[in-house]
Amino acid sequence: MPEPLTPGELLALDRRHVWHPYGPMPGRQDPLIVESAAGVRLRLAEPAEGRSELIDGMSSWWSAVHGYNHPVLNEAARGQLDRMSHVMFGGLTHEPAVRLAARLVELTPEPLQHVFLADSGSVSVEVAVKMCLQYWRSLGRPDKRRLLTWRGGYHGDTFQPMAVCDPDGGMHHLWSGLLPRQVFADAPPPGFDAPPDPAYEAHLRDLVARHAHELAAVIVEPVVQGAGGMRFHSPALLRVLREACDEHDVLLVFDEIATGFGRTGELFAAGHAGVSPDVMCLGKALTGGYLTLAATLCTTRVADGISRGELPVLAHGPTFMGNPLAAAVALASIDLLLGHDWRQEVKRIETGLREGLTATAALPGVRDVRVLGAIGVVQLDHPLDEAGMAATTRAAVREGVWLRPFRDLLYTMPPYITGDDDLARICAALHAAARAG
Ligand SMILES: *Cc1c(COP(=O)(O)O)cnc(C)c1O
Repeated sequence: MPEPLTPGELLALDRRHVWHPYGPMPGRQDPLIVESAAGVRLRLAEPAEGRSELIDGMSSWWSAVHGYNHPVLNEAARGQLDRMSHVMFGGLTHEPAVRLAARLVELTPEPLQHVFLADSGSVSVEVAVKMCLQYWRSLGRPDKRRLLTWRGGYHGDTFQPMAVCDPDGGMHHLWSGLLPRQVFADAPPPGFDAPPDPAYEAHLRDLVARHAHELAAVIVEPVVQGAGGMRFHSPALLRVLREACDEHDVLLVFDEIATGFGRTGELFAAGHAGVSPDVMCLGKALTGGYLTLAATLCTTRVADGISRGELPVLAHGPTFMGNPLAAAVALASIDLLLGHDWRQEVKRIETGLREGLTATAALPGVRDVRVLGAIGVVQLDHPLDEAGMAATTRAAVREGVWLRPFRDLLYTMPPYITGDDDLARICAALHAAARAG
């Protein structure tokens, strides 16, 4: 082993050479150095604001639902590591990938029967789009190649996903002329419990009808729009989309990369509406936050369509497709989730967040507080600039909690194993951050 770097050396190298998400080069702000993590706690190499441990309010971006360093997931990874960490998936197969695919088919709505294991959420969206485009091409309708979505969405950072991210928040202007031009509906009316809005429903139906001749698919995040603005909408809108797509011969894609595996209180958010898509993307919590893995599921209709085409195969095959290590951990993570009363855990967190954030809603500068499942959002009445982001993050760290605000949003989606005391501290940190913002 080489000599460990001192925190100072590590930060200097980080700043000079390492890109961080949506970061400048060289870096302008020092990230916190995490030495290890266990349960819901991140252990820092150097104390920050007097804290050497932080409660993770982010689940590492929706993924670490069971917390860190979990003995069951560690064992699954070790067991698989001793057999093989990877083999190519072309011409070869293995038990972890096959069992995982079968498990996903069993858990998701009945019509979804076929699984493409991709290596990240964005790639799974690329594959979903490719499936839809190839389906229509195979059926002799290559003009059906545009996508429809609603504003306020987020589907990843590669080019197809970027084209269906919110056109204002998603930095589209940078890429005008380069991104495929998609069809955008207005953002869904806010609120999981929002009453039916006939005008908005008519707007959706009308757009699908008018563009059906050129639409391959409608793609949305069901119930929760995540990184596009942490907004919730009525599940009834998913039924409207399903009906409109059926009526006008358009495929429906649900991006459940953030919402999947219980986060919103249903195993998959589509379950709130009892609606099944033609194609579904999963990622983030799939491996319990251990390794990068995503999946695109589709119906037999879509798979058969593709197979009848001029190119009768799905033309995609990443090097690390079906990675055994990730698949083995994913299987263990799913067993762990379903082996607990996860519904009750998510409900408990929902109640804790609702109660814990009541006072925050009354703070000056706070526009809205909303909670759904194990997701708590504090929306400010102004966007945070770089200094505001630093100040709010620092305020949370002072409370012993890790949060990562963006734009006008302070939010948490804690690991499901977060205890009531730690949850109360997360709420206190959101409150402190809102005061600092
Ligand atoms: C995070 C996310 C993605 C992108 O996943 P990556 O693994 O970051 O590529 C796509 N869609 C949704 C809804 C997401 O939350």
